[in-house]
Amino acid sequence: MSASPAFLMRLVASSFSIAEKAQTVVHQVMSGGDLGVVEKTGAHDLQTKADRLVQLSICSSLARKFPKLTIIGEEDLPFQEVDEDLIESLQSEEVLKYSCPTQYDHIKEDEIVVWVDPLDGTKEYTEGLLDHVTVLIGIAYGGKAIAGVINQPYYNYQAGAGAVLGRTIWGVLNLGTFGIQLKEPPEGKHIITTTRSHGNKLANDCINVMNADDVIRVGGAGNKVLQLIEGKATAYIFASPGCKKWDTCAPEAILHAVSGKLTDIHGNPFQYHKDVKHMNSAGVLATLRNFEYYASRVPDSVKTALVP
Ligand code: AMP
Ligand code: MG
Ligand code: MG
Repeated sequence: MSASPAFLMRLVASSFSIAEKAQTVVHQVMSGGDLGVVEKTGAHDLQTKADRLVQLSICSSLARKFPKLTIIGEEDLPFQEVDEDLIESLQSEEVLKYSCPTQYDHIKEDEIVVWVDPLDGTKEYTEGLLDHVTVLIGIAYGGKAIAGVINQPYYNYQAGAGAVLGRTIWGVLNLGTFGIQLKEPPEGKHIITTTRSHGNKLANDCINVMNADDVIRVGGAGNKVLQLIEGKATAYIFASPGCKKWDTCAPEAILHAVSGKLTDIHGNPFQYHKDVKHMNSAGVLATLRNFEYYASRVPDSVKTALVP
């Protein structure tokens, strides 16, 4: 560990430990048996007790340690005292072994916006598709996603006895992504990963012209970006409004840290400053490689329908 780690690395190290605690909370709520499901805008927009507790845990833990941060979480929760059991004050020693990229080593606490999706893939969580679920902590500076932490609480849950359950992945631009092995997809294949529960005609129109060998429909923005990194899919395409900044910030930073690309469906980069509108109205397009293959095939009718 360096003598005095840069602020960004301390924030990532804290976020890593906080995301690991989130995994425990997500497991505890599931094993408690009562998910406490609430419909937000409708049956396809759910919140569970895990979404609520994890958001409280992440936001309160970060705010206590770094009071000048701007933190924006998905869930609209009334103010409440937070149970001390939900506070995580550790910082990952593993993350602190790495030096901060020099262009970020001057960043101060009040210059950062943290985007928190306490549970991405909530619908899938309620349906028992557990490995679709992730916890997302995205870190933005100057309106750009520069670092992120993704916890996948049920990674390996079908792997049988002896397999370690859950994993935490982190990345910083110009440093790299850790906790996941980059794998190449099958040679020459176009495999698209997309929504399973928020599909519509526009989203399908966009996929239909891509000449895909396969279309995988899974939950979660975090999960789909992990599929790109692990070579299970070659493009994440969602030609519809619906994803928000807390869905894309951490996955974008982690994908960009391994030279991938995540933008709206027009190929425009997302902005993550604190006053930006939350909705990604112009959809999502992401790849590890070959971005242009997909971007150049997005139909004009889809582009016209999706105004940033
Ligand atoms: P999905 O790929 O359907 O799991 O969506 C990725 C993220 O975007 C999840 O957090 C969803 O809740 C969110 N999302 C996408 N479309 C919608 C929608 N129509 N309504 C609410 N949330 C959505
Ligand atoms: Mg989400
Ligand atoms: Mg969520």
